[in-house]
Amino acid sequence: MRIFITLLTLASLAAVPTPALASGDAPVAIVIHGGAGTIRREDMDAAREAAFRAALEAAVRAGHQRLAAGESSLVAVRTAINLLEDSPLFNAGKGAVFNADGVNELDASVMSGRDRNAGAVSSVRRVRNPIDLAIAVMQHSPHVMLSGEGAERFAAEQGMALIDPGYFHTDFRWQQLQDARERETAGRSGAADFFSTVGAVALDRDGNLAAGTSTGGMTNKRFGRVGDSPIIGAGTFADNASCAVSATGHGEYFIRWVVAYDICARVAAGAALADAADTVINHVLVEAGGAGGVIAMDPEGNIAMPFNTAGMYRASVGVDGGVFVGIYGEEGGVVD
Ligand code: ASP
Repeated sequence: MRIFITLLTLASLAAVPTPALASGDAPVAIVIHGGAGTIRREDMDAAREAAFRAALEAAVRAGHQRLAAGESSLVAVRTAINLLEDSPLFNAGKGAVFNADGVNELDASVMSGRDRNAGAVSSVRRVRNPIDLAIAVMQHSPHVMLSGEGAERFAAEQGMALIDPGYFHTDFRWQQLQDARERETAGRSGAADFFSTVGAVALDRDGNLAAGTSTGGMTNKRFGRVGDSPIIGAGTFADNASCAVSATGHGEYFIRWVVAYDICARVAAGAALADAADTVINHVLVEAGGAGGVIAMDPEGNIAMPFNTAGMYRASVGVDGGVFVGIYGEEGGVVD
């Protein structure tokens, strides 16, 4: 029944036409990702691929509807990420991966481009929508990042429900952990051990950018490991003076190469968004050996979504209202 209702909700969201901009309105745009990784056409069955496309399209349209209604980029980012967190398909919220202890530890962050305000949480185990807690840290605490038990105590103080960690169990992710353990025992690298972190970047009518990222991290990660997703400048960054970015990939590289900030620093120094994002993902990171991708947007609503992996789940609604959904490397164009 619940699945049926979810499908109905997704179907009704997908069926709603993208609102066109009234003339004179400032442009709005949104881009989301559902993670980069070893995502190949030949490994995907048709039903699973269709489910990913429907979930991405529903999330990007839902975020865009908020922008078209005049709401802030922060609200749009949260709306899109909440839908992806609640889907078992993505490695965030409900679909989070397991760590080496067989536990789900979730990370998230958010940044506002207007004032560089930011909030982040790491290693939370009982928060259904970590992006909501990151936003609460940004808006209702004097801090930028809270971790573990302290973050959960803050969630309770904010009136957020602390849920049974069993909520995050999915058989699919449990099997991924067993596979990763086997690979580790066999001495093979964990190159396929990251997938499907989620993120969103949006531009609202007031010209404000925002970016957010939410993840379960990497399968079989060591207990307490924190990746790039909750680290401002690495996995998430937003500044109206340059750009906004949400990243996905092998977090240790994204932290050391300060990927999100590096892209925006290049834009601030005069590079076009597409060139800056391409340079960092396809040159700097490739030379370093770091796999992954980003979504990025500048204050004009230009969008870039480069990745150096086989695929990246991604979707956007540009300033012209065109909707794009993509999974594999070779895809381009808009779906309507
Ligand atoms: N970047 C995330 C991390 O390292 C994983 C991912 O994007 O899939 O935790």
